[in-house]
Amino acid sequence: MDTLKPTGQQKTDLLKGNVYQDNGEYHAMVCGDVGYSSASHFSSSSPIDGYQYATVGIASKQQINQSVQVAEEAFKVWRLVPAPRRGELVRQIGEEVRANKKMLAQLITLEAGKIIQEAEGEVQEWIDMCDFAVGVSRQLYGLTIASERPSHRMMEQWHPLGVVGVITAFNFPMAVWAWNAMLALVCGDAVVWKPSEKTPLCAYACHEMFLRAAQKMDDVPLNLCAVVQGDASVGSAICDSSLVKLVSATGSVAMGRKVAQTVSKRLGKYLLELGGNNAMIVTAKADLDLAVRAIVFAAVGTCGQRCTSLRRLIIHESIFDELMARLVKVYPTLPIGDPRKEGTLIGPLIDEAAFQSMQLAIQRVTEEKGKVLYGGERVDGGLGELAQGFYVRPALSIVDSKSSLLVEETFAPVLFCLTYSVLEEAIELHNAVPQGLSSAIFTQNVMEAESFVSTKGSDCGIANVNIGTSGAEIGGAFGGEKDTGGGRESGSDAWKNYMRRATNTINYGYGLPFAQGVSFSWD
Ligand code: NAD
Repeated sequence: MDTLKPTGQQKTDLLKGNVYQDNGEYHAMVCGDVGYSSASHFSSSSPIDGYQYATVGIASKQQINQSVQVAEEAFKVWRLVPAPRRGELVRQIGEEVRANKKMLAQLITLEAGKIIQEAEGEVQEWIDMCDFAVGVSRQLYGLTIASERPSHRMMEQWHPLGVVGVITAFNFPMAVWAWNAMLALVCGDAVVWKPSEKTPLCAYACHEMFLRAAQKMDDVPLNLCAVVQGDASVGSAICDSSLVKLVSATGSVAMGRKVAQTVSKRLGKYLLELGGNNAMIVTAKADLDLAVRAIVFAAVGTCGQRCTSLRRLIIHESIFDELMARLVKVYPTLPIGDPRKEGTLIGPLIDEAAFQSMQLAIQRVTEEKGKVLYGGERVDGGLGELAQGFYVRPALSIVDSKSSLLVEETFAPVLFCLTYSVLEEAIELHNAVPQGLSSAIFTQNVMEAESFVSTKGSDCGIANVNIGTSGAEIGGAFGGEKDTGGGRESGSDAWKNYMRRATNTINYGYGLPFAQGVSFSWD
């Protein structure tokens, strides 16, 4: 293809305006409404069956800068629109998403391999985020602070920040952008998005929802949101741009370190949502029926490819054998296969690299004198046209508390189980990893539960009681400590990340008293 102009080409409904289809291939051509012809492309294959369904244009450095520039111009207009009116845009986006929920979910399944129920859950998360952000649009308030000086008033105001760069991972190809963008939009910002190169069409579909909503209103600059496609170098170019006032990056710890370095060089702001290595403590006082349900959903849901997936299970020695026996019984019954089919609970891994890293982890379990109790292998046979996909049996393993596997995030359905004897030891084991995203305890004992969520308990950004590690609601601030990056997105007061705070002191008297009683007089 030497030209990527959409005119006269067949467009799919959801991707209209962003992508055109030619001989079964998708071609991307939009940065905001700055159409671009791409000199280079990448192809995308579905993890379901390896089918190469899209060819997407890569944005050049010049095109990325141009997108940021036009987003900055849109920001200058948008920041003056009253916040509740900005909320109306997000409300309209929510309406579009509601109307297209099924199709959007199908696209997530096609690109990320998520089972359809979880894909619909992801779209629902976007809808919830819209509702939440609309409310926030009327609550962007600061404090009024008592001034120490007579006839003075102090207050805080929150002002729009500017262009927000959003970089996202493959495993939540719509929701993570929505967490960021829905808040950024009500806060008065513009958004330039670099989605995962593994899920490019989800990004165009999201952009289409924005465009449809924006076109229903007469005061929304269409360049307010842009999508720039490509690999790490495209993300890096966003990080480099001094016009990008906040870079919100979601992905691996390795990626976060690079983003932090690049943005820090220009003293920019960043918000990092990085890898997790999440654990659950199951005490002798746990309701095991509840615990088993939570463990299975958290460990094998999304084929173990959530940042909040359960990877480490720390079990009291008195119930270890019973709990392991229950898990060994349940695991073989979990339906693995086509994520588009109702009833499937485990879809494919995203790609061969994910499969290889899972195999390596399984191999290391035995090398480190642990034991694989179930699973770990690729499902071969019986998959028919899905044979090119990487379908695996989720793995259950027992490891020593000193195993090096425990401190890494294996982004696949592998659960490492170990024992403890007293709660303090369990909490120590729990916290002895570099990551700090999500955590859980199962117990019916109030002392154990309260200890876990107290100052001396879990060191994670999320600490749950009698709930698994995954599946957070959007109302809470989401994010983690330590190598997970320290960022908070979504609910609570996460909106403050997308604004700048100004402290104003107003003197309505006729004197000029200085703070701290300083005297500075020359007559
Ligand atoms: P990844 O780090 O490979 O890629 C994430 C994104 O970063 C992609 O868009 C990629 O192109 C971009 N990128 C990579 N290097 C970059 C660089 N140097 N500069 C700028 N951009 C760069 O992650 P992935 O494989 O897509 O996703 C899995 C990882 O994401 C896991 O570690 C998972 O825990 C994490 N994750 C975290 C959260 C969270 O909220 N904490 C949510 C989802 C996923």
